[in-house]
Amino acid sequence: MNHFDVLVVGGGPAGSAAAISCAQRGLRVAQLEGQGFPRYRPGESLHPGIEPLLQQLGVADQVCSQGTIRFPGQWVQWDSPPRFCGFGEDLTGPWLGFQIARTRLDAVLLQQAAMLGVRVLQPCQARRLLTHDQRVIGLESDSGPLFAPYVIDASGATGWLGRQLSSTVRRHSPQLIVRYGYLKGCIHPYEQSPHLLADVYGWTWIARVEDQLLHWTRLCFDKTLALSRTAPGHLRRLPRVGPIRGADVSWRISAAPAGAGFFTVGDAASVLDPAASHGVLKALMTGIQAAQAVFDGLQQPVFQYEAQAQYSRWLRDWFERDLVQMRRFYSAHPCPPDWLEHSTRSVS
Ligand SMILES: Cc1cc2nc3c(=O)[nH]c(=O)nc-3n(C[C@H](O)[C@H](O)[C@H](O)COP(=O)(O)OP(=O)(O)OC[C@H]3O[C@@H](n4cnc5c(N)ncnc54)[C@H](O)[C@@H]3O)c2cc1C
Repeated sequence: MNHFDVLVVGGGPAGSAAAISCAQRGLRVAQLEGQGFPRYRPGESLHPGIEPLLQQLGVADQVCSQGTIRFPGQWVQWDSPPRFCGFGEDLTGPWLGFQIARTRLDAVLLQQAAMLGVRVLQPCQARRLLTHDQRVIGLESDSGPLFAPYVIDASGATGWLGRQLSSTVRRHSPQLIVRYGYLKGCIHPYEQSPHLLADVYGWTWIARVEDQLLHWTRLCFDKTLALSRTAPGHLRRLPRVGPIRGADVSWRISAAPAGAGFFTVGDAASVLDPAASHGVLKALMTGIQAAQAVFDGLQQPVFQYEAQAQYSRWLRDWFERDLVQMRRFYSAHPCPPDWLEHSTRSVS
């Protein structure tokens, strides 16, 4: 059987949130993940706001089990001496973020999708989009052709579906490359909460992600310095674990986050650099939101275009608000990047 209600490309948080949410609504779903698990992905420091989303997806107990590192906020040394920026609090106490290995988070979410009846194809690449009369109707995959009235693209920063359709990507920064890596052990003052440290070239994020594992991410505003593949100086005495990697985190959003027979979610829809600090939250929320739009479109086809338009508006509004925050934050950097003043409009 190769006909479904919806095909989901990608087994990251965006893809699994979409697949689980579709299955919870009774839809027939196939989810494709190109790589075998465990596969590495960055993004272990998670905003407290993901907890209700994980509950909604039915995985909160598994993901937030005992032993998970929790933290009430981060230390930020930016335009002034280091200050603690908490997430907030209510009557029950401070809100706590999570340090959760992505191998664990992604595996738990994918298992939940399979348990709810999603046909998980892994490893299985989506190869070519199938269209008819300018509407997406399915895709060619390593497992053969698959058909559905909707495809949700959760392929991450590569934006598989957008490339297939040659969609325009609106860029709001020059190319930004982050370098990141891991070190064994931990040194003061990184035991309790992550630190975001500005310097004349950019910033460094340092977080203890496991008991004896420190993660660092470094963004240099200048492209030539961004090529350097070394750990930040004061951390170099800790032994390196694994390679130093890089990622393109230029600020960008798809000009067409949804269209006839498709939705894009997570990093496939929009990307900001990790200083925005909620990539995984956005992945889960866009996956859940797109699933609702697919369900609405299938229930009442007459409203499908309205559902696509609403989703696109919601995503763009969120991205615009994030852009305002990011520009404000970078304006307060001791040496703000010179491209900032031009970034109020798309740069290409
Ligand atoms: C250095 C760095 C640090 C970060 N730190 C944080 C952080 O601390 N907290 C946070 O919230 N966010 C962080 N982020 C952002 C976060 O990593 C992303 O926003 C998040 O992973 C996006 O999830 P996703 O599901 O959209 O994509 P991904 O997690 O990238 O998943 C996409 C999946 O699709 C699969 N795929 C791709 N193409 C195909 C295909 N053709 N067929 C089948 N499968 C395919 C891939 O194998 C992959 O598994 C960080 C990002 C970087 C680069």
